[in-house]
Amino acid sequence: MPEPLEILKAVFGYPVFRGQQAEIIKHLSSGGDCLVLMPTGGGKSLCYQIPALLRNGVAIIVSPLIALMQNQVVALHELGVRAAFLNSSLSQQEAYLVEQELLADKLDLLYVAPERLLTSRFLYLLKKTTVALFAIDEVHCVSQWGHDFRPEYSQLSILHEQFPQVPRIALTATADTVTRAEIIERLGLKKAKVFVSSFDRPNIRYQIVDKTNSKSQLLTFIQAEHRGKAGIVYCLSRKKVDETAAWLAEKGVSAIAYHAGMDAQQRSMNQQRFLREDGIVMVATIAFGMGIDKPDVRFVAHLDLPKSIEGYYQETGRAGRDGQTANAWMTYGLGDVIQLRRMINESSAHEQFKRVATTKLEAMLALCETTTCRRIRMLNYFGEMTTETACGNCDICLDPPQVWDATEAVQKALSCAYRTGQQFGAGHLIDVLRGNQTERVKEWCHDRVSTFGIGQDFPVKTWRAVFRQIVALGLLTTDSGGFGSLCLTQASRPVLKGQQKIYLRQQIKQKKTVNNRSNDELITFTSEECKLWERLRDWRAKTAKEHGVPAYVIFHDATLRELVRSCPQTEEDLRQIAGVGVRKLERYGDHLMQILRV
Ligand code: ADP
Ligand code: ZN
Repeated sequence: MPEPLEILKAVFGYPVFRGQQAEIIKHLSSGGDCLVLMPTGGGKSLCYQIPALLRNGVAIIVSPLIALMQNQVVALHELGVRAAFLNSSLSQQEAYLVEQELLADKLDLLYVAPERLLTSRFLYLLKKTTVALFAIDEVHCVSQWGHDFRPEYSQLSILHEQFPQVPRIALTATADTVTRAEIIERLGLKKAKVFVSSFDRPNIRYQIVDKTNSKSQLLTFIQAEHRGKAGIVYCLSRKKVDETAAWLAEKGVSAIAYHAGMDAQQRSMNQQRFLREDGIVMVATIAFGMGIDKPDVRFVAHLDLPKSIEGYYQETGRAGRDGQTANAWMTYGLGDVIQLRRMINESSAHEQFKRVATTKLEAMLALCETTTCRRIRMLNYFGEMTTETACGNCDICLDPPQVWDATEAVQKALSCAYRTGQQFGAGHLIDVLRGNQTERVKEWCHDRVSTFGIGQDFPVKTWRAVFRQIVALGLLTTDSGGFGSLCLTQASRPVLKGQQKIYLRQQIKQKKTVNNRSNDELITFTSEECKLWERLRDWRAKTAKEHGVPAYVIFHDATLRELVRSCPQTEEDLRQIAGVGVRKLERYGDHLMQILRV
């Protein structure tokens, strides 16, 4: 039997295992069950792909996502691995052919949709073949409480009952312990070895900036740091998705839209473009994401606040799966807080559900307003404790915000809300504080209240930041009033009475660029190298098109970059480049040598 490391090198072209891959592969290959919790981009697929090649028989991979199955099979074919999938996208004839391959022992991996796996026909076929292992991907779909619940997943315990000797590996990128317990319970994995990786994604830089004009802030961000790169922009509403995509396109960004309101064909066409072409920016609602395994997404931007840290982590996690530098960037303002609080309050959900939703939102707000490292805060939220206090790769660590004693300003803001009857939003309160004689101020005679004009020492921007933070802190609430009107809470009392000091963060200005890490080929390459880089990218795009696969399936950016840096001149040198395995060397070696020798 070959060693796992030999397969890693020969087939996948990688020199070393990442994290716990080696242990997991060893455990599974020798027949043990396991549950693998690893963040997105951690390298879960190799954990079953290599044992599939090591063990006798065919590995059955259960996956709920048709698009993802297809992509994996295409990528495996590129590597010369015998793989196929069975799902509803195949015609009866095509499915029959796959079944024949299965029976003739011509497959090392077979991806199946859970509903197909559970049919008696398929289980009967499996009985007639040798099964190397079962891999259950996206296993959190078993959880009734999660938003990805798939009823068929809860029947997957049948695998263990009918094939007790076949090892199982269950995998997910969901971090929370409740889901973990549910998976173990429902799939009978009590004896399985659990492998928990850190959920940190060190290559992702987290940034949350004050919202001024979110669209133009976004454009500045893309132009400064991600020109020509692939990214995802999340918006809350379909309307905003359409508007933002159109606006970006007008400004010369290759942006397209994705949301559940579009017709299915257009949606799937846009998804294909995003996956296959280079440098597309997808503007989407959160309907876009599950099953997007594009490795070279360089940024995820949020124009609206996610409802929870779980959501934020999952969405931002789609950046930088290839381990290269990536950005998670968000604009956030008072309007976001008000909108989400209102959505929770006005929903028809149970009280208990609303309470949970509110708690999750509070945690998300605290992450936005934190004055300490965002990454550490997030990891703590997922129960991962560390002795570190700074990650060095989030906006807070890179540019620590100053805090200021805002007690007096907060008192002014609170008493202004009180004096004007607790029925106005932040905009009007700021007008009153700043002493603006607006129509509305006159109409309500608010130029006669005691707080009129007492806030002239701060510009509007500062007041807006003050209101945003005090709403986030729960000192003012929109819960009981009409739309956007701010009322005092229990928590405001001690502040008004001068019994509690309030420290707020000073606004962080959006820097033109933090630094251009993601365009680093443009910065660190010589002009000769830039030309080579472009030639390699052109060749890759052309080849990908000919083969009908996404560009990254041919080679990742990281591989191209290494080719430029070390410019190998012999086949032996080429073999040493990460990402170049035996099969790709055979297929593309000559082409690459031609390009590299110019
Ligand atoms: P996950 O399913 O955990 O999100 P994938 O299995 O898709 O992650 O792997 C993410 C990326 O990392 C893929 O592009 C994969 O080829 C790459 N990768 C995985 N393991 C290694 C490794 N040991 N060395 C180099 N690259 C790896
Ligand atoms: Zn940090």
